[in-house]
Amino acid sequence: MIEDKNQQRTSLSALGEFGLIGHLTRDIETSQPSTLKGIGDDGAVLDFKDKKVVVSTDLVIEGVHFDLAYMPLKHLGYKAVVVNVSDICAMNATPTQITVSIAVSNRFPVEALDELYDGIKHAAKVYGVDIVGGDTTSSQKGMILSITAIGEAEAEDITYRAGATSTDLLIVTGDVGAAYMGLQVLEREKQVFQVNPNNQPDLDPYNYLIERQLKPEARKDIKAILKALEVQPTSMIDVSDGLSSEIIHLCKNSGLGASLYEEKIPVDPQLINVCEEFNIDITTVALNGGEDYELLFTIKQADYDKIKGNPNFTVIGHMTEESAGINLVTRANTQIPLKARGWNALSEGE
Ligand code: ADP
Ligand code: MG
Repeated sequence: MIEDKNQQRTSLSALGEFGLIGHLTRDIETSQPSTLKGIGDDGAVLDFKDKKVVVSTDLVIEGVHFDLAYMPLKHLGYKAVVVNVSDICAMNATPTQITVSIAVSNRFPVEALDELYDGIKHAAKVYGVDIVGGDTTSSQKGMILSITAIGEAEAEDITYRAGATSTDLLIVTGDVGAAYMGLQVLEREKQVFQVNPNNQPDLDPYNYLIERQLKPEARKDIKAILKALEVQPTSMIDVSDGLSSEIIHLCKNSGLGASLYEEKIPVDPQLINVCEEFNIDITTVALNGGEDYELLFTIKQADYDKIKGNPNFTVIGHMTEESAGINLVTRANTQIPLKARGWNALSEGE
């Protein structure tokens, strides 16, 4: 359905490995001052002066992490960069470079890889990161894509999962749960399409959800916003596996408990509508649906006035002593222990 049909099909073997690398990287330029040498030698050369360097890597496999039937290659490339950039942002660092490694089978024509790279290059431009290298090889079946992101930060700005104290406030950026329901909508439409290929679905009521799934964005803006407000987060993580599981990570790493207030969890109106339509509990989705790529962090209570009313942030709860446990305080004011169920568990269990 959304899959792009490539009219022209140039076989990968027509270019060969070096021809393909040259073709995919022909127009890549660098702009970060820390990039001394990018693509074209045995290694990239970077110079971060007296800054700290943050590195994060991620591997995705066709059929396991993505399905090309509803994930156009351009979106896949974009998203693969975003998820890595998000990890750098979750350290309260600034992303500066990425490397891109791909393994593809002959099933993919050169034009398909061009699409993938269009998405990768577009994301690199949007987030201001240089593509400084990678690796290209063949696979027996399907596509494997690995991106490594590099970032920089002053030592005192770097924020770990550990570092919160028992009186800190718990904050999330943006809203959560939308990307998961976007995937549910796409999977439903894929099934409808398989039964009736002529059916033209009206996806307008789901546009925000689908965009959150297909074209998520990393919160690169948050570091500067917090800096301008003079707020130093005490712990931080990005929401990739679901709010619940990320809160548990912050708690475990900081040796604390937490109380999360159900009524405070920020959700988009489209999510409320679609959860009704799918007859699925909205809090379950907001807690366990992953891939939101928002930032979850803690701040000192004394900093509350600085972030109060800022549309980027919602205070969703607070940290507690470890002995109090990690709990959801429901609208009915009962306490339920939070469980770490990634979105995979959700899709199997519900
Ligand atoms: P090597 O033999 O040392 O692995 P390659 O021939 O694989 O070198 O790569 C040549 C140059 O192209 C290197 O700078 C490498 O980082 C870069 N490169 C290779 N594949 C990719 C890719 N898929 N995307 C971006 N850069 C790549
Ligand atoms: Mg190589």
